[in-house]
Amino acid sequence: HAKEQGRNNMQYFTAALNAAAGERMSLERELRLATEQEQFELHYQPQVATGAPPDARPCAVEALLRWHHPQRGQISPARFIPIAEETGLIETIGAWVLDEACRSFAQWKAAGIGPRRVAVNLSAHQLRSPALVERVEAVMRRHGLADGELELEITESVAMDDPAAAIEKLQALRRLGVTLAIDDFGTGYSSLAYLKRLPIQILKLDREFVRDIETDPNDAAISAATLTLAHSLGLEVVAEGVETAAQRDFLAAHGCDKLQGYLFGRPQPAEHWLEIWQGGNQPGAERPRHPA
Ligand code: C2E
Ligand code: MG
Ligand code: MG
Ligand code: MG
Repeated sequence: HAKEQGRNNMQYFTAALNAAAGERMSLERELRLATEQEQFELHYQPQVATGAPPDARPCAVEALLRWHHPQRGQISPARFIPIAEETGLIETIGAWVLDEACRSFAQWKAAGIGPRRVAVNLSAHQLRSPALVERVEAVMRRHGLADGELELEITESVAMDDPAAAIEKLQALRRLGVTLAIDDFGTGYSSLAYLKRLPIQILKLDREFVRDIETDPNDAAISAATLTLAHSLGLEVVAEGVETAAQRDFLAAHGCDKLQGYLFGRPQPAEHWLEIWQGGNQPGAERPRHPA
């Protein structure tokens, strides 16, 4: 009986594994098509200065990639970015993201509206690419971005991959006038000694700590300590995933510089923000809200 059970489990697992592998292969194939068929779009989410009035322009926006699959609908970047990474497709996709984000930013800038900076996420593969620095330089020149107008976000583990090489790459980006942020801070495993060596300007406190900041004393302690640490290293802190007024108030009381989260706006397409910043539509007015 037990043996039978074992065999059934085995068959079940094998079937599940095959299904997962098949699913992955079709996603991979479809991802390849997506780049050719322009199924990608960028959404932008505001970062606001702590304590700024509700109608203030955001200081920055973060570009977040969206994939509108013709049959499956929206697929989360958390799902497809890892596949794009492993297949190297991120090279093409990432180049498109960079160009598109800078193009939108240049339009807002030309219209005299919008944020002072646009932030783009970089994956491990992109940071390792020998073409990165030249590509960033070319895209900034193409769209006329000045010093401080482009921010690149990398995660701790990306920077930890090959620290010496990462530091060199990041220094070259700094020389182009790029602002550098560590994304999802606190979820990786970087040592403080190492962090000090990175030529970064911004720490993004992960949503993980912000979520229960008012109820979980550990999260409150980690957030407060991160703020103190970052500030003593001369870094600015942006809190991610701020959804409630209570979270905002806690972060404000602890000197967090900037806030990002649904409380201040969900990621939305460029046209949405164009309308808002041109004053045509107020946030919260009745218009369809795109899901994050
Ligand atoms: P991330 O860079 O940490 O981006 C923040 C994520 O948190 C986004 O998820 C955003 O929609 C979500 N978020 C923002 N505010 C809130 C909030 O108040 N509550 C909650 N629950 N979530 C909030 P998204 O857009 O699904 O992206 C997931 C991750 O995928 C990103 O995390 C980033 O690591 C990666 N990603 C997205 N776009 C790109 C891209 O163009 N290139 C690369 N390499 N990675 C990207
Ligand atoms: Mg990010
Ligand atoms: Mg993040
Ligand atoms: Mg994250």
